[in-house]
Amino acid sequence: MNHSGGCQCGAVKFTATGEPVRAMACHCTTCKLRSGSPYGIGVYFKDEQVEISGGQVQTFTFSSDTTGRWIKNEFCAACGATFSWTLEMRPGLRAIAGGSFDDPDWFKLDAHIWTQSARSDMCYPEGMATFPQALT
Ligand SMILES: [Zn+2]
Ligand SMILES: [Zn+2]
Repeated sequence: MNHSGGCQCGAVKFTATGEPVRAMACHCTTCKLRSGSPYGIGVYFKDEQVEISGGQVQTFTFSSDTTGRWIKNEFCAACGATFSWTLEMRPGLRAIAGGSFDDPDWFKLDAHIWTQSARSDMCYPEGMATFPQALT
């Protein structure tokens, strides 16, 4: 099964093949800043499951404010939308931003993580796994 998507302007496209390793909603500071939203959704695949094509991709590498390990955001040079990232913490894996899929509802969330920094008015679906920090 292929799942495609891309950036906001459509210049950069991606296709993810097969099932994700894990899909998580993350309430950490990094995901808030990347997405401009209360939380970010990362759908993690093995590197070889994801193919990126089309326009120019730029990267921004920085260190996690909690672990000091590197995180590399990948975004479209034309529209600036960050559609993917890789992390020192998860070698061999690539996250796709959940909202970047053509159908952003095709995958099931496994958990909400970093809930200790979630907004105070955040509610979770019944039965959803939640973790105060990272799920390792
Ligand atoms: Zn774009
Ligand atoms: Zn996060």
